[in-house]
Amino acid sequence: MPSSKTRIAIIGGGVAGLVVARHTAAKLDSYSLTLFEQTDQVGGTWIYTDETDIDKHGLPIHSSMYKNLRTNLPREVMQIPDFPMKHNEGPSFVHHSVIREYLWDYAKHFNLYPHIKLNTVVKHVEPDTLPNGQTIWMITYEDLESKIETTKTFDAVVVCNGHYTVGHVPHIPGIESFPGGTIHSHQYRIPEVYARKKVCILGASWSGMDIAIEVSQYAEKVYLSHNLPESVDLKMLENVEQRPGIQSIQGNIFIFRDGSTAEVDNFIYCTGYKFTYPFMSTKVEMRTDDNHVEPTYKHLIHMDYQNLFIMGLPGIVIPFPLFHLQAQYILSILEGQIKLPSTEQMREEYEMEKKALLDLGIPLRHIAKLKERQWAYYDEIAAAANIPSFPPVIRKIYDHVDQMRELDLTTYKNYQYRIIDDENFALCYCKPC
Ligand code: FAD
Repeated sequence: MPSSKTRIAIIGGGVAGLVVARHTAAKLDSYSLTLFEQTDQVGGTWIYTDETDIDKHGLPIHSSMYKNLRTNLPREVMQIPDFPMKHNEGPSFVHHSVIREYLWDYAKHFNLYPHIKLNTVVKHVEPDTLPNGQTIWMITYEDLESKIETTKTFDAVVVCNGHYTVGHVPHIPGIESFPGGTIHSHQYRIPEVYARKKVCILGASWSGMDIAIEVSQYAEKVYLSHNLPESVDLKMLENVEQRPGIQSIQGNIFIFRDGSTAEVDNFIYCTGYKFTYPFMSTKVEMRTDDNHVEPTYKHLIHMDYQNLFIMGLPGIVIPFPLFHLQAQYILSILEGQIKLPSTEQMREEYEMEKKALLDLGIPLRHIAKLKERQWAYYDEIAAAANIPSFPPVIRKIYDHVDQMRELDLTTYKNYQYRIIDDENFALCYCKPC
């Protein structure tokens, strides 16, 4: 007899996949659930490895963690709302291994492992239409140990494959002539290898700045090259010099856009990542050009299929709590509590929103970077799913961290935040780690 349960497939066992699994697993009367994870552990990008190339199965290394990375959000903001992080002494910006342990605890606590297929890569996702017009999904996956390939049918698919693995590498004229070592931040692990070197880092977003700070402790000189309108405040780092973008390279001489030059031994691209969905059928429209994914509604729902969801699209957000809301929003859609507009209406609404942002001068690749808009987004999807959004204290801490980061990028992680109540927090200075 066919099952009356909604069969949900989750692709990827990082935090996004685990959070969707947690909420689905709480309703096993209504759902059956399979989470596919290609590696042998859950945790996604938080599983640090020294490796930078391929894994034991020949798949590209997924994680972009580097050895000394501490979080850029305090744990009080970063944690999943229904699973607070253990409070330890010391700064709120914890080492990545603390997050890995936390995610493993989360998976255990909510008894998710019975639903998880580890060492299982999703190779293909194909839509099919039933006589009643309903779309179902045929998922082909390979057990990487036995090499056996299987295809199974699901009623809904939640794509949680992460998007910090495939580096965006802009072409720089003359790069072929550079004799030194070149990596993307995806492959960066430790700063010691840059001892006494002259290093150029291209890009001053999160990883560019963080890696510049680390590498400067060992390198003779760091050139932080970027196109930001103003210099980044890197107090005390006397051997870090900021330069505009790179115009060209001739051998080991880098020529910057202001005409200045520098001799460079090593080059690190910190130029961001690309969204990729290599398993998706060509029948499913998935545009990822200009680092922007379409056609998606509310940064989550594929506009042609109301049972295909893509997690992790918004940038400059608080990812773990965001996933917590999005997961419940998805279930409310599948359960019919949220009625989505027709495909045409969704496209119309989306195009209007997109035009308004483009008219404000925001480039297409930045329109999903929610930043100030994130709080309204959380409130909107929480209200639609009839669940609480975040208390004001979360935004207050987030904004405070932003100010501290602006004041001094090299010391903002030395503080401990404590939530007192929904409105208030306390702050104390800890000794640098
Ligand atoms: P991922 O963690 O990337 O997980 C995706 C999973 O999908 C992986 O386990 C992968 O193996 C699996 N997968 C992919 N393709 C397939 C397939 N075909 N079949 C089966 N499995 C597949 N966020 C913060 O909140 N705070 C921070 O301090 C912070 N620092 C960061 C530092 C770095 C260097 C990076 C790269 C990111 C950082 N982030 C931070 C953002 C972080 O990516 C998100 O917080 C979050 O971990 C993303 O989770 P995810 O589940 O979307 O993706």
